[in-house]
Amino acid sequence: MGGPSIFFRQALLWEGWARDVRISVSDGCITAIERDATAQPGDRVHAAGLPGMPNLHSHAFQRGMAGLAERRGPSHDSFWSWREIMYRFVDRIEPDDLLAIAALAYAEMLESGFTRVGEFHYLHHAPDGGPYADPAEMAHAIAAAAAETSIGLTLLPVFYAHSGFDGAPPADGQRRFVNDITGFERLVARILTALGTLDDGVLGVAPHSLRAVTAEELRAVATIVPDGPIHIHIAEQVAEVDACLAWSGARPVQWLLENAEVGPRWCLVHATHVTEPEWRGIAQGGATAGLCPITEANLGDGLFPARDYLAAGGSFGVGSDSNVEIDMFAELRLLEYGQRLQHRSRNVLAEGGGHSTGTSLYRRAVSGGGAALGVEGGLAGGAPADFISLDLNHPSLAAAPPDAILDAAIFAAGRGAIDTVWRRGVPVVSAGRHRNYDAIVARYVMTLKKLMA
Ligand SMILES: [Zn+2]
Repeated sequence: MGGPSIFFRQALLWEGWARDVRISVSDGCITAIERDATAQPGDRVHAAGLPGMPNLHSHAFQRGMAGLAERRGPSHDSFWSWREIMYRFVDRIEPDDLLAIAALAYAEMLESGFTRVGEFHYLHHAPDGGPYADPAEMAHAIAAAAAETSIGLTLLPVFYAHSGFDGAPPADGQRRFVNDITGFERLVARILTALGTLDDGVLGVAPHSLRAVTAEELRAVATIVPDGPIHIHIAEQVAEVDACLAWSGARPVQWLLENAEVGPRWCLVHATHVTEPEWRGIAQGGATAGLCPITEANLGDGLFPARDYLAAGGSFGVGSDSNVEIDMFAELRLLEYGQRLQHRSRNVLAEGGGHSTGTSLYRRAVSGGGAALGVEGGLAGGAPADFISLDLNHPSLAAAPPDAILDAAIFAAGRGAIDTVWRRGVPVVSAGRHRNYDAIVARYVMTLKKLMA
């Protein structure tokens, strides 16, 4: 059944901005795109349309501790001290709590223009570390939050077995994450049933990091979902690079490129600390760099060499990772600003002379993010009808020339410029607000008060 068509006075297609674009939708997917079209009676008319943005890396439960790890400790604060706070928070979360927290995170993602999330899901077991009666209980909560909010879900169950390189046993704080390969296969089989309840769920797999899996386990995990995305945290921290060098003589990305077939199914999350041969290897293999600029800044990770990697044709997408702040435009802005600060230059990530930085960033993040999440992105026939309209009455956008709208949105207006967000052709955000926002917030606040008591 086709619903009414959506008509944009201008829209961002793969080939660039086009005028008078009429999009027809059936069964949640785009069936036709007409350019230079005329709006028909019954069409929903909007000013400016963009494809929805994939959010390629999220740990939804961490939304619950957003802003609660910003007090300086007695010694040097780092990723590792943040991780201790995260482990204490994680100890208390039960499936209903996860549903409440993830639903808020996903509603906020949709409001900010993310229409699909790659959930890097490692919180599998009960607080005592034993499996729930259904080992996929927590994954069901994630799927329920996705269904409730209507965000697209690419679920990436995480395999986690060790606390350090070369198979060190897991630490107590990691007991809710840990599986052996047999247990993990069982879990993935159950997760498939959770995804079956969604319209367009995608299953992938995520070996957590080279710290948490052995070489043998990495090979086994990579074959469990034959065609799905494979995501891994890698080279986020200097201490991790040093430990990997001490263990293997190779840097993490170098080791991965030498020991796994890192191709288009792979997303290397962070990949912050890479040498030129390493980032060239990622680009040449066709994998995606999963960049999470806000979280990487919040955790003090460092800067990915985005300027040179993008110039070499490398694919990237963005992720909200720790969900300390959920804001799609802000992720793209900080990615560019990090490069400006590093290179003392402007418009570093524009595709070339005369190109809009905002449009360059946006198109490449849609493309790389879609590839990383196993879906076709962008406004194109056959793609999911996931898109965004911008409010051209926003003061930062009202006078912007058509090809500068994304520059104005990303660098000036921010998420206040987002008007409507459609998922599978249905508006789930209107005037910047998710349709279930009030109920989701009320339940989230009750849950957080209970968890913090
Ligand atoms: Zn992560």
